[in-house]
Amino acid sequence: MHELALADAVIKAALRAADEAGMDRIDKLVVKVGELQQIEKDLFEFSLTSVLPTQDERIADAEFEVTEERVRFGCKACGHEYAKDEAALDGGGDADEAIHFIPELSHAFARCPSCGSPDFEILAGRGITLERIEGSSADDG
Ligand SMILES: [Zn+2]
Repeated sequence: MHELALADAVIKAALRAADEAGMDRIDKLVVKVGELQQIEKDLFEFSLTSVLPTQDERIADAEFEVTEERVRFGCKACGHEYAKDEAALDGGGDADEAIHFIPELSHAFARCPSCGSPDFEILAGRGITLERIEGSSADDG
């Protein structure tokens, strides 16, 4: 039920954003899912499209777009930013597989391609973000 909880959080964030923007109706939601986020995407999209819109009439007819956010690392030693593909990996292909399936392991394998430091932070590609909402208010016309 992990996906359902995440979808629920996205819907709540969207409704809050709609309140702040003065929208009475949400037509479209764009959701970014990080490459490192452990999630069953089909189930997540199913939760968004089928289950949750019934919870609030403002969002009942909304269209959902789910996009993937690529992971980006930031080197703490030299400040260089790099994608997973660019990281110098210990162990080659096996390490890449390990990172894909067990994101926590990325610290054990990735190296900055610029200076070789293993000390990095994850700048993007983690978690689920409500990218934007599109909608309208009753005042619009
Ligand atoms: Zn570096």
